[in-house]
Amino acid sequence: ALWITDECINCDVCEPECPNEAISQGAEIYEINPSKCTECVGHYDTPQCMEVCPVDCIGKSPEHPETNDQLWAKYEQLTGNK
Ligand code: SF4
Ligand code: SF4
Repeated sequence: ALWITDECINCDVCEPECPNEAISQGAEIYEINPSKCTECVGHYDTPQCMEVCPVDCIGKSPEHPETNDQLWAKYEQLTGNK
């Protein structure tokens, strides 16, 4: 999963771009729900939130490292697609 660092400026550009509805406004900055973020695997070739973030404050979460296979499994579990 990806995460958002405290450099987030709360611009709200990323939230509507997420195909998994994993992004929401948190208490101070925007947050990514790691159980819903597939790093866009299954939907797009690149993480859409990273593409649009104007301050580049989104990156891989050190707390939730995942292999490509694990991300695909999460995609299948979330969508029911195989
Ligand atoms: Fe959503 Fe993709 Fe960003 Fe994960 S990488 S939060 S799935 S837009
Ligand atoms: Fe924060 Fe970047 Fe999302 Fe804007 S696009 S809300 S700066 S994470």
